[in-house]
Amino acid sequence: MVSNQDVLKALSNVIEPELHKDLVSLKMIENIIINGTNVDLKVILTTPACPLKQKIESEVKTAVLGIKGVESVRVEMDARVPSDGQTREMLVLPIKNAIAIASGKGGVGKSTIAVNVAVTLAMRGAKVGLVDADIYGPNIPTMMGVDSLPAPQNGRLIPAEAYGVKIMSIGFMVRPGQPLIWRGPMLHTAIRQFLTDVEWGELDYLIIDLPPGTGDAQLSLMQNLPLSGGVIVTLPQKVSIEDAGRGLQMFREMNVPVLGVVENMSFLAMPDGTKMDLFGTGGGEALASKMDTTFLGCIPIDPAVRIGGDNGKPIVFEYPESPVAMSLIEITEKIAAQVSLLAITHQFTDSVKKATE
Ligand code: ADP
Repeated sequence: MVSNQDVLKALSNVIEPELHKDLVSLKMIENIIINGTNVDLKVILTTPACPLKQKIESEVKTAVLGIKGVESVRVEMDARVPSDGQTREMLVLPIKNAIAIASGKGGVGKSTIAVNVAVTLAMRGAKVGLVDADIYGPNIPTMMGVDSLPAPQNGRLIPAEAYGVKIMSIGFMVRPGQPLIWRGPMLHTAIRQFLTDVEWGELDYLIIDLPPGTGDAQLSLMQNLPLSGGVIVTLPQKVSIEDAGRGLQMFREMNVPVLGVVENMSFLAMPDGTKMDLFGTGGGEALASKMDTTFLGCIPIDPAVRIGGDNGKPIVFEYPESPVAMSLIEITEKIAAQVSLLAITHQFTDSVKKATE
């Protein structure tokens, strides 16, 4: 007779490749049902956007089939996103992880990446919110195809919603065409309001599109909202890399973990299959390696990205099979994996701390 213990023992040899711990100590195995020679079980991943889902599933199957007496196995893959453990104290409902997308200068594709990361996570089944804190150009509503907020309920703001993502934007708070002359403290107040007065519900991920640069506004926002980590977006050329390096440094000075660097507009794919480098090459990767952080990937230039942005149709939703959408999806998976890694490491350090207290 096969026992639960046999199954757990076999699975304690399967290592989660990103988290470098076995599935049993990570508490990723649930609902083991043994019926004669068949085993059913559930694997709970730490993110529905897990890049190695297939690999884990196949290793689990192989391990269970290796148990003497087991002839068949059925594995259900599910996900439960762990919290980064930070208290976002003014919130009634938990936002498990908050991820900021930053850049040294405007126009490098920061909002485009924030939108497509949020939509990809939601398409995978995560509960996602998107905050547009870009006081200089709050264009998330346009990119998501929404233009106003629903009516407030019981004195609380209801976020707009598109593609399964809940959206709040500085843009909803000003009239179109009105210039935004905001300073740090004003953004500070607006962000507090976004957190305290908005009915977010429970969120696995809150994605924040930061204003470009490294001034008061960014610092104030980070003081206000504890972040799980930050992503830096850059173009491949030297000047952009220098600005991005300052953005990265800003995260470090504020003790925000750097999740990695994304290089946008890396090349233009030509009809003959060659790649044309419009802005140079390799800058993002070089920055990541110099600053000792992860290089999350390159995104090519594709006019469909701009068209989708202008028309409120994110490319990962409209053309998920296109090379540019595939690179955005891969980058999102890497970001989600980094965030899980931080959350799990935090939980482990916390339980070790508790055990030794
Ligand atoms: P930022 O938030 O850094 O100011 P945006 O995301 O608003 O930058 O992007 C600036 C412009 O470039 C937008 O019109 C956007 O649609 C376009 N864009 C961004 N990334 C790409 C890309 N990979 N290919 C083509 N156009 C892009």
